[in-house]
Amino acid sequence: DAGKVDDSVSFISDVANKGSGEELLKVDSILMQFGGLKALNNVDLSVKRGTIHGLIGPNGSGKSTMMNVLTGIYIPTAGNVLYAGESVVGKTSSDIAISGIARTFQNVQLFGEMTAIQNILVGLHHTFKSNIVDVALNLVRYRKEDQEAHARAMALLKFVGLEDLANEEARNLPYGKQRLLEIARALALDPQLLLLDEPAAGLTAPDIKELLRIIRKIRDSGITFILIEHHMDVVMSVCDTVSVLDFGQKIAEGKPAEVQADEKVIKAYLGT
Ligand code: ADP
Ligand code: MG
Repeated sequence: DAGKVDDSVSFISDVANKGSGEELLKVDSILMQFGGLKALNNVDLSVKRGTIHGLIGPNGSGKSTMMNVLTGIYIPTAGNVLYAGESVVGKTSSDIAISGIARTFQNVQLFGEMTAIQNILVGLHHTFKSNIVDVALNLVRYRKEDQEAHARAMALLKFVGLEDLANEEARNLPYGKQRLLEIARALALDPQLLLLDEPAAGLTAPDIKELLRIIRKIRDSGITFILIEHHMDVVMSVCDTVSVLDFGQKIAEGKPAEVQADEKVIKAYLGT
């Protein structure tokens, strides 16, 4: 039974499996300033291939800003981001996605009126940044021409357990399923690094359990993660290492249990 599920992992490139243990992402002294606010203040991160790195911290501490810097939505005021040894600073979001960094958003961003499978096809064709008319036109074309893309999209849906909902409009899916669909769409980019921004937010306990199962399955396929998360139990159960941000600064880093016991971290969360 478990073996059958694993068949669908084959869509993930072998590249992701190579060189486990090497540094895949290196964030070097990032400063992100908005006017007088230092949303990120001299932050370093190091993420090894094949690991899950948790990024935690109170609201407003700079977590989503970091994801926006990593994906080219914000250009940092200073500092550098090296992905697979190459700087991503100044690259477009689209180029960064193509180079292998995929993400989900803190607030689900699906094409609500498209079906689940169409949302994946959008990811497959890297057209997610185009306007909606281009996307729709492409879908019509690809649907005729690209049976392979369709099969791949179905494999991705199956991977996250949504194959029976392929033709449902995204907006009609339960919230927990929308989250999984967003993850599947990110996987369509065949990423080496997957950034999830609070994937468990707003989910029920059974939804979180399913999310964790999917995250572990993706990790087992060799993909590296940065996981922004508020739910400590999620962080504790899947993260290999954790960094803690507070007011834009990294105040702790280490194994989840060490970080959770850190006085500075406890203080930051208590707001004292
Ligand atoms: P987190 O995700 O940890 O809750 P954010 O990264 O969203 O925090 O925000 C960190 C800080 O940066 C907040 O004070 C937020 O208001 C500010 N910030 C984020 N993006 C912008 C922006 N585009 N313009 C101005 N301030 C911003
Ligand atoms: Mg955030």
